[in-house]
Amino acid sequence: MQITREAIGALIALQAKDHRLDSLAAQKAGIPAEIDSLKGEIEAAKSEMKDAKAKTIECEKRKKEKELELAAKEEAIRKHSVELNQVKTNEAFKALQSEIEGAKSAGSALETQILEFMEEADQSRAREKKLALEAAEEEKKILVEIRSAMGRLAEVEAAIVKAKAERDAAAAGIGPDLLKAYEMIRGRGKLDAVVPVENGHCGVCRMALMPQQLVESAKGRSLVVCESCQRILYRPAPAEASASGVKS
Ligand SMILES: [Zn+2]
Repeated sequence: MQITREAIGALIALQAKDHRLDSLAAQKAGIPAEIDSLKGEIEAAKSEMKDAKAKTIECEKRKKEKELELAAKEEAIRKHSVELNQVKTNEAFKALQSEIEGAKSAGSALETQILEFMEEADQSRAREKKLALEAAEEEKKILVEIRSAMGRLAEVEAAIVKAKAERDAAAAGIGPDLLKAYEMIRGRGKLDAVVPVENGHCGVCRMALMPQQLVESAKGRSLVVCESCQRILYRPAPAEASASGVKS
């Protein structure tokens, strides 16, 4: 394919615009995941608080159960105490007395358990309150970060629109065949489609150029493509080569 130095120059300029677009697209792609992860942090903070709430409810429930059991024991004691006055034999009297003692001792154990559950529920409620405050504080902080990420997303999207227009303007000045060749290489995932010759080698895959290719690239009048990686090769201008320390 016949080309000119100017055409290669325009292609290099287009590639710089495409690289800018690539970098903006990568920035944009990372932001939704960042926002999701921030939302996840809010949920995690709330979930700890919900766990504490569930524990409070569980303690209250256990306390209530023990209170019902205690009421049953107290009722049994009351009933047996009445029966004590009605028994006829010593044996029956002793049996009732023993039942009453048993119920009293069980009741005393239940009272201890009720106190324990009450204390545990109080502690859990306090923890719940503390976690709720922390979660609210955390959420406030994270919402600021989410808003900032969304702001960045809007900025990147606006920058993409602008960069895309610049890219399209740069592409408009390039011949269709050269543009097609360039876009085909990029389409294969080789985003650096145009590379300088460095010391007689392809600047990316390091394949040595054949003498004829070296001559062609120096002339800059026909398209030179790396035989190994198929990228478009160009010979950097002397100023560019000495600036980057590259000798071709
Ligand atoms: Zn190559």
